[in-house]
Amino acid sequence: MANKPPIVDLHTHSTASDGTSTPTELIERAAEIGLKAISLTDHDTTAGLAEASAAADRLGIEFVPGIEISAEFSPGTMHILGYLFDPDSPAIQAVSEKYIEGRDGRNAKMVARLQEFGCRITIEEVEGRAGGDVVGRPHMAEIMIESGFVRNKQEAFNKYLAKGESAYFDRYRLPQSEAIGAIHAAGGLASLAHPIQLKAQNSAERERIIRSLADDGLDGVEAYHSQHRNEDVREYLDLASRLGLCVTGGSDFHGSRKANVALGTGAGNVRAPYSLLEELRKRHALRHGRRVEAN
Ligand code: AMP
Ligand code: ZN
Ligand code: FE
Ligand code: FE
Repeated sequence: MANKPPIVDLHTHSTASDGTSTPTELIERAAEIGLKAISLTDHDTTAGLAEASAAADRLGIEFVPGIEISAEFSPGTMHILGYLFDPDSPAIQAVSEKYIEGRDGRNAKMVARLQEFGCRITIEEVEGRAGGDVVGRPHMAEIMIESGFVRNKQEAFNKYLAKGESAYFDRYRLPQSEAIGAIHAAGGLASLAHPIQLKAQNSAERERIIRSLADDGLDGVEAYHSQHRNEDVREYLDLASRLGLCVTGGSDFHGSRKANVALGTGAGNVRAPYSLLEELRKRHALRHGRRVEAN
């Protein structure tokens, strides 16, 4: 086999949010497939980071603390990835608490609405399915399928759970500048996840949005992602280079909950070289004068 440059996966989810692998299982799988480094980027929580980091130490994989925070945006979604921050920082913990509170309130409303529609579903079942503090629509969809209310996940989202559908309620999200600001306050770097999901009309509109994020301090753009085609990747690489942003990349692995997305390689289209992480660490070191600790 020809020598291939080492690869990393900087976008993954565990049971601490809506993935199906525990943080330990995730790192074990990363070791099995030979990743040189991995980041765990659960939605709205740092709860899985200590376990993942310990497993990574044990298995000799480089670990990058991460998180994925959704910001206010429409019509698509804007997700900001945070990297290399202090997981215990009050800045990041305060955001996590507010987001989880917001989810709890929104989830209660959505479940009540589903019950009105005749779905046999309780908030306890949904929370039980989630396992951790971060509870959301993918967990609801599975209970809806099991109770026979819908046939599959697509029906659950298309009729009830998707933005604007009959059981949908918005949840608390920070404006983009504050999401980036919280990650910076915790000593980290911020990268725009899967720009494709902004659902911008065209590349000019995407560029305007990403420029506004750069003005708010954005550090990177996720060019490699399971949902990006080659032409998307090229567009984001070019944009990152023109705006002086780092490039990040990852599969957005969710275990069996997104069975077509493999760790490291996504849908067969993801290949994030280790050099991306080296560049990210350089930017981080420049920002923080090489201090590792945060207060
Ligand atoms: P939540 O965290 O509760 O806001 O739910 C967001 C998650 O629901 C996303 O990460 C997706 O996995 C899933 N999701 C959102 N919209 C759709 C959709 N239209 N079809 C399928 N899955 C979706
Ligand atoms: Zn997710
Ligand atoms: Fe995302
Ligand atoms: Fe994600």
